[in-house]
Amino acid sequence: MEKDIEIGFLGTGGAVATQERDNTALVIRYDTDLFLIDCPGAVFQKFKRMGMDPRRVTSILVTHVHPDHIYGLPILIHSLMLDEMCIRLYASEESIRFCRDLLELYQLQSDKIKCRLEFVSVGHGDRFLLAPGLECQAMHVPHKAASLAFFLDFLDRGRTVVYSGDSPLHPPLFKAAAGSDLLIHDCSIPSRLAGQYEFLLQMHTHALDLGSFAQQARVKRLAPVHFFGELDYSLAEIETEIRRHYSGELIMPRDLQRIML
Ligand SMILES: [Zn+2]
Ligand SMILES: [Zn+2]
Repeated sequence: MEKDIEIGFLGTGGAVATQERDNTALVIRYDTDLFLIDCPGAVFQKFKRMGMDPRRVTSILVTHVHPDHIYGLPILIHSLMLDEMCIRLYASEESIRFCRDLLELYQLQSDKIKCRLEFVSVGHGDRFLLAPGLECQAMHVPHKAASLAFFLDFLDRGRTVVYSGDSPLHPPLFKAAAGSDLLIHDCSIPSRLAGQYEFLLQMHTHALDLGSFAQQARVKRLAPVHFFGELDYSLAEIETEIRRHYSGELIMPRDLQRIML
């Protein structure tokens, strides 16, 4: 039987949470296994609200260690402390060092913690097996020294899902994502604010560029995330800018929204 592929948006906001949007994080369900991408706050509770069992998390993929992407790791492991399980955490060497230190501060890998972490260091171009039939490739993106984007290949189903993590416009990512079934991409601001917040574009992408590059790459579905909700713009403006160039299926995700592939 075909295995389900489901994407859950645990959060869709930027570095500052708003009333509607918490920091961006994703969960990928492949059959019964869950793969968490980044770990800001309240992930355990969000799984519950989505009817997903956090004990099904087999791997955590970390794009980078800015606080809005990783500060929830200690409480997630603490919440799973009585569960005999092993979670693989894939990240760059720099991110792994940080995650180890963060857990060490709370002594979250001491003997009484039953949930164990296995750290797997990955770098640009590395390809690794997350589960039978599910491969992942890491790509460096120029957001932070050791930032990674992840390309998930569901081999049985012939589907590819790409997540940029936080990233400025990075043409090689779009080249590699050409024809993918779903691209989830940083879309922090509309282009209108680009002049006012020029520094932001060294680390993030604006909606007009995103639409244009996603169109050139012919991605089938596009889901913008990491909206800087504290700035003065509406999601309608983001949608209009993306639509100026992009004619594929556009998903403007809400927090806790789930989509099947
Ligand atoms: Zn961020
Ligand atoms: Zn960041």
